[in-house]
Amino acid sequence: MESEASVIIAGNWKMYKTNIEAVDFIRKLGEKIAPTKAQVLLAVPFTAIAPAAKEAEGSLIEIGAQNMNDASEGAFTGEVAAKMLIDAGAKFVILGHSERRRYFNEDDAFINRKVKRALKEGLKVILCVGESLSEREAEKTEEILQNQLKACLDGVSENDIKHLIIAYEPVWAIGTGLNATAPVVEETHLVIRQILATLYSEEVVKKVSIIYGGSVKPANAQAYIDEPNIDGLLVGGASLDLDTFDQIVNYQHHANT
Ligand code: PEP
Repeated sequence: MESEASVIIAGNWKMYKTNIEAVDFIRKLGEKIAPTKAQVLLAVPFTAIAPAAKEAEGSLIEIGAQNMNDASEGAFTGEVAAKMLIDAGAKFVILGHSERRRYFNEDDAFINRKVKRALKEGLKVILCVGESLSEREAEKTEEILQNQLKACLDGVSENDIKHLIIAYEPVWAIGTGLNATAPVVEETHLVIRQILATLYSEEVVKKVSIIYGGSVKPANAQAYIDEPNIDGLLVGGASLDLDTFDQIVNYQHHANT
């Protein structure tokens, strides 16, 4: 990809870490990655956004959220709005994660409304898409990705897509230890870029970052990054341990310095 952006290493902490644990992790990670040129993003639990963002100030780490509601505000008990995330210090939000689709029945239409709301309020979006194992085995990967991308990006303008990162996360590879190999991911990212090219201009599409997520570890991270169409990684389980995450981030440190 001819992107000017550096490689993105994003961590998704899911429902882990108290505020004290989050702040301690970010302080230590900030010290370790000082010279890296990788863009390091951490999606922390809602409760940790404010202290995490404060700790990350002046470092190379950006703090974000793992979800939000599509409404600007309202009587939606237990929900959190985009402007509240921004107020707490979030710079981005993960939307469409397969765990939200699976456990909370989020469909593409709802995700699409969230994407538009997030972009309108000024949050960057990491939009997750990906097929299940049975869909891949039935050779439906392209069809599934096309459906998800078209639906989730409906009404998202050429200008707004610049603030969006696509995370290809095959559902069968998330938290299972079964990672998709780098060549398979590279091929799928090309398919995603082709689908995007049916929706946006070529110039914009080549600048959209497409990152991979699914059982990324220090041992396999480099193989992905070395592929031309894999612009970064979304790391779940392996982002929870400081040394493990640092090893993934630090590959970029060596590559870029
Ligand atoms: C994720 O939660 O986005 C993810 C990719 O998880 P894991 O790295 O644990 O597979």
